[in-house]
Amino acid sequence: MDIPKTMKAAVLMGPNQVEIKEMETPSPGPQDVLIRVEACAVCGSDVSLMKKPWDGQPPYGSFIIGHEYAGTVAALGETVDEFKLGDRVAVEASFGCARCRNCRLGNYTACLNYGNLKRGHRANGFTTNGGFAQYAANQINTVHKIPDSIEFDEASLVANLGCVLYGFQTIGGYVVGDDVVVVGPGPLGIISVGVAKALCAGRVFLVGTRDSRLEVGKTMGADRLININREDPVEVVREETGGKGADLVVESSGASQGPQTALEIAKRMGKILLLGFPDEPVSANFSIMGQRNIHIYSVRGEGWANCARGVSLLEQEKISLKPLVTHSFPLAQVVEAFETFTQRIGGAIKVIVHPNQS
Ligand SMILES: [Zn+2]
Ligand SMILES: [Zn+2]
Repeated sequence: MDIPKTMKAAVLMGPNQVEIKEMETPSPGPQDVLIRVEACAVCGSDVSLMKKPWDGQPPYGSFIIGHEYAGTVAALGETVDEFKLGDRVAVEASFGCARCRNCRLGNYTACLNYGNLKRGHRANGFTTNGGFAQYAANQINTVHKIPDSIEFDEASLVANLGCVLYGFQTIGGYVVGDDVVVVGPGPLGIISVGVAKALCAGRVFLVGTRDSRLEVGKTMGADRLININREDPVEVVREETGGKGADLVVESSGASQGPQTALEIAKRMGKILLLGFPDEPVSANFSIMGQRNIHIYSVRGEGWANCARGVSLLEQEKISLKPLVTHSFPLAQVVEAFETFTQRIGGAIKVIVHPNQS
């Protein structure tokens, strides 16, 4: 494959300032593959780190953003025989450092050397360059082969699916027959509905404010939609679970009242999984947690190789992420892609950028 010396990439130049620049094409390290990026999805994390830098973020003018992408293997690092040129792949962001206690135990998304490049930490699109570019170099443990049946747009969302699966793993994994309430029909909430159904949960409720997004949740398998402008989710869930409450509440709204609503919906000894993070400190009545013996969990990122499990679910058609893909743009229109995402123009849910299409 002919790889150009330079490439087009979306570079963060300052707060909320992204420009397409001509950058050096990365060369893969010994354990890397070079990926020709076919699809890179806009994520709320991109929006957040564009507004205000996250820990370990590379300096303005050199940082290529984007962490949810898929493409084709275009070059191999000198030790790599796990992949071959032309393989279709999806990525996850975090490699970690592979030398701290958390990484050694498998918890690489919580690397203790986060942002420390000298110690080998890498998280593409966060602390190292990412995928809003024609090419990206990834450590092979962050790369997953995908079959021809999975299109690149859908494959770019494997990291989202991996994150939700990591959340379900963290709460114990076994949800067969359990009543699950998902609060907040954003991308992770909608995927949580699909994962709950794929793992054979009992009834799955989806709570939100926008009917159009709730309807997408229905196509992912939600049994009961609750629009809080018309119904009280606490009352509905209590009534429709025979007074018990939810076995699991997935809080993915990030709204300030989200944790309190989750505490009121969860059953005694129920579990709450926090996937959405509020911008501001929130208050919630934690005495409910003690009195009802409720457990609260949170995850960051797509840990524990759950992206590979996500690919498996997609390949077996137990879940489809296609309903989330609402818009796509070429790289030259990356700013428009972000606007479409943040302002939810045309009912946008996931907006995909195609770096190698014009
Ligand atoms: Zn993301
Ligand atoms: Zn580490």
